[in-house]
Amino acid sequence: MQFIDLEAQYTHLKEKIDARIHKVLDHGQYIMGPEVKELEEKLADYVGVKHAITCANGTDALTLAMMVLGVKKGDAVFCPTFTFFATAETIAYEEATPIFVDSDELTFNICPVDLEKRIQKVIAEGNLTPKAIISVDLFGLPANYPELESLAKKYDLKLIEDAAQGFGGSLNGKMAGSYGDIATTSFFPAKPLGCYGDGGAIFTNSDEYAALLRSYCVHGKGTDKYDNVRIGMNSRLDTIQAAVLLEKLAEFPKELIARQQVADKYEVELKGRFKTPVVPAGYTSSWAQYTVLDDNRDSVMEQYNQKGIPTMVYYRTCMHQQTAFTYLGYINGDFPVAENLAKNAFSLPMHPYLK
Ligand SMILES: *Cc1c(COP(=O)(O)O)cnc(C)c1O
Repeated sequence: MQFIDLEAQYTHLKEKIDARIHKVLDHGQYIMGPEVKELEEKLADYVGVKHAITCANGTDALTLAMMVLGVKKGDAVFCPTFTFFATAETIAYEEATPIFVDSDELTFNICPVDLEKRIQKVIAEGNLTPKAIISVDLFGLPANYPELESLAKKYDLKLIEDAAQGFGGSLNGKMAGSYGDIATTSFFPAKPLGCYGDGGAIFTNSDEYAALLRSYCVHGKGTDKYDNVRIGMNSRLDTIQAAVLLEKLAEFPKELIARQQVADKYEVELKGRFKTPVVPAGYTSSWAQYTVLDDNRDSVMEQYNQKGIPTMVYYRTCMHQQTAFTYLGYINGDFPVAENLAKNAFSLPMHPYLK
């Protein structure tokens, strides 16, 4: 049994994916080929936003979003402490200060109550300019956008949705990737929608942001090909990866139904044995991970291992416990809910081809 069975997915889609890849080999436009534009149109349509801009990976997508929003040294950017490292890393990469926030006990997503406390603390201290919130749709479940949007408005903060795991999820029918001023995702192979290498995308309804994003991800290009008007980066999605994603995106709605069926089965079988995931009313999850809690995580994982069932821990270390962030001066006990998740959470096999 595999934790995520990319092989089964490839076997299912082999003819279509191979044909798409061969088409790229035939036309030879490996960079910015027609498949990239076709994919961007289909992604924007799927998510329900005006613009989708592809880029090299989900980490670059976050960096590009912050470049466009002008995040800089002296700014405070709030993000959950219980997330993948890239969420916080990119804030520090822009030389801004990451301000970590505890998790909601039920959903594992950023806790709006703790967020407001931390915003008020930054304002009271007066050393940093509160600038943005990066929410994360952890394990596939969209964050609490009604609350996050109202806090962003109240404190005049930009909101970035990190939908690297949430792509495919929704809240009241509005898709993950459509929230905030800018949303980002990743096409890393193990994500709900993955390619066969690295890839990412950025979503926005703003024409101004979209134009800036298209410039920043190609060396800060201007309208004249040889005049670069700002300092950018080289972050593009390969045409071959776009070709793979076009076929996988066509299958994605069916895969989401299959993922939900796996989650339903787990819920029936495991409820009462572990603390199983909660999907509040109005939300759907893309089930990037099926994560449960148990006080004896390590021995339970060992039992599964002996039965040939792979399990993983996401995440054993919160952001405030990372060596790279010791300079921020947090201590253990600062984020009780997240620290408990880091101790007790583990994830079970989850993919649409699980039998
Ligand atoms: C995977 C992930 C990223 C980074 O994506 P890459 O494509 O690997 O750079 C960012 N944020 C979250 C929450 C992720 O899970």
